[in-house]
Amino acid sequence: MKSLGSSGCRWSLTILFLIVTISWFATKYWCICWVLPYKHVAIWLEEGGIVVGEHLREEISRTAGVFAETASGDFEWWLDYSKVGSFRSIFVPMWLVLAPIAACGFMAWWKHGVQRVRMARGWCVNCGYDRANIESNSRCPECGIMDNSVK
Ligand SMILES: [Zn+2]
Repeated sequence: MKSLGSSGCRWSLTILFLIVTISWFATKYWCICWVLPYKHVAIWLEEGGIVVGEHLREEISRTAGVFAETASGDFEWWLDYSKVGSFRSIFVPMWLVLAPIAACGFMAWWKHGVQRVRMARGWCVNCGYDRANIESNSRCPECGIMDNSVK
């Protein structure tokens, strides 16, 4: 990952946040299942979480592909592991996926905001050193960065 302040990273995190949030809400109405074409593994979005399931012996009865079904409308909130017969699965609640994305996204936007304020005040965007008496195309005497622009 590039530095948290870069615009690509900032927007990627924002888009990822939106995709996960929309998926989370979608699981209230739909269950989206993706059966992988190998190893009897399926991944699906259901009841507010991501489930990874595996048949230990026989194959998953469905052929590989993506399927959608209407959901029960229930939400699960906690990590869960279950084993029924030869089928085992792990449930990861969506908020657990969303929390680190939200935290990184918030930090990236926060850093961007801080840099914009520093630039507006004529400070070094990296360390906040007052560049008032320094030529604009010279290195910051405090941290050494050359490029004093917000990315
Ligand atoms: Zn600096």
